[in-house]
Amino acid sequence: MKHTDIFDVLKKPELLGQEVTVCGWVRTFRDSSAVCFLELADGTSFPRLQVVIDKKALDVDAECTKLGASVKVTGEVVKAFKGDGHELNAKEVTLLGKCPPDYPIQKKRTTLEFLRGIPHLRLRTNTFNAVFRVRSVAAQAVHRYFHEHRYYYIQTPLITASDCEGAGEMFRVTTQPYNAKYESEAEYYKNDFFGVKAGLSVSGQLEGEVAAMAFSKIYTFGPSFRAENSNTTRHLAEFWHIEPEVAFAELPDIIEIAEDMIKYLIRAVLEECPDEINFFDSFVEKGLKAKLEHVATSDFAICDYTDAISIFQKADVKFQYPVDWGCDLQTEHEKYLTEVVFKRPVFVTNYPKEIKSFYMKQNPDGKTVAATDLLVPGIGEIIGCSEREADYDKLLAAMKARNMDISAYKQYLDLRIFGSVPHSGFGLGFDRFVMYVTGMENIRDVVLFPRTVNNIM
Ligand code: ATP
Ligand code: MN
Repeated sequence: MKHTDIFDVLKKPELLGQEVTVCGWVRTFRDSSAVCFLELADGTSFPRLQVVIDKKALDVDAECTKLGASVKVTGEVVKAFKGDGHELNAKEVTLLGKCPPDYPIQKKRTTLEFLRGIPHLRLRTNTFNAVFRVRSVAAQAVHRYFHEHRYYYIQTPLITASDCEGAGEMFRVTTQPYNAKYESEAEYYKNDFFGVKAGLSVSGQLEGEVAAMAFSKIYTFGPSFRAENSNTTRHLAEFWHIEPEVAFAELPDIIEIAEDMIKYLIRAVLEECPDEINFFDSFVEKGLKAKLEHVATSDFAICDYTDAISIFQKADVKFQYPVDWGCDLQTEHEKYLTEVVFKRPVFVTNYPKEIKSFYMKQNPDGKTVAATDLLVPGIGEIIGCSEREADYDKLLAAMKARNMDISAYKQYLDLRIFGSVPHSGFGLGFDRFVMYVTGMENIRDVVLFPRTVNNIM
């Protein structure tokens, strides 16, 4: 179907005075005595196209004016009556698909919660249209950032037999019939597809390290799966994970990279999605644009875990979970630190080793590891990061202390035998990043079909 994107019709000066054909969905209809107006959206641009219909010259099928109907319009591109954009003087309006009045996306604003119940239709609203345009632009910018900095994009397996200890509960992958009866767990898995217990990967990190030991700089960008049993606004069972892994990099190096990348992504969104960011700034998070501009141009804070604990202990707020050195930070602490104390993104560094994963580099104090989480206002953690333990003996000792099955990690340990180097990496939750730049408060509203406990619609 030959037609022009509404984006081009609105923005390209050379189309002024030309005849074009556009296709789209009717978003509003207004009728006055001599003319009527259709606003059309085709998803290529945030602003919609106003189509002006001269009622004397053109008899338009009433079905073409119904909210949600899809139409094809041919007409002349003219300067808009208001503003400096373009509009279309219709010569021909053809109905493509009619839309009955029980169309659930009506003109008046509905709640995000209501829209969650119609994931197949909610993308046609302004809010979701803008969210997913930003999401796409941000994803492109991720690849561009790494490509420009000579990182290689690798694809790690999604089905795995190792569970990247500590990252979360794994979903099982099986072909066994539901009524299989076996004497033991081992026998059960022996009869399964892979002959061992398998699951969906919670992280590509361990395989990412393998690649970093050959290419120096790699990244992954794909889904991770976690059977999170908690119902929070920032956890999904299936989320998109960006995991760079960098050889010859220590903790301060990887912190610099993480900060540089986040700023690059924010700048890309500000530059490429100005209409969307203005919309979010007005209707979703007041001050969002100023926040992003500030974050893109100022330093992130760095705060040692031990200092953070004393900040919490001196704070004159009552936390639901009291803090002591050694405890894991709850969302309330993360938010206090980044929203109240620093009022900007903050890297919390050097966590107690007991609350972090086996692979993190042990600090000389014997108590902490070279790990950092990046916390941002409004969400809390968006990046989990660490220097990896490159010393064979220390890594082995940490695994034994956690009663891990050493034989399952032979390849991972091999990396510490054959030319081991200091290296570091991080995991950025892409969906959480999209929340941060759009101001959307629930992770369910930045993914197409969110998967969470009891929800796979
Ligand atoms: P949290 O404490 O918030 O559960 P985590 O410590 O489990 O996070 P990591 O294992 O470090 O997170 O994963 C790296 C990043 O992946 C996180 O900082 C976050 O942005 C993202 N992430 C982790 N789990 C989820 C999830 N269930 N849904 C969406 N994003 C997630
Ligand atoms: Mn988690």
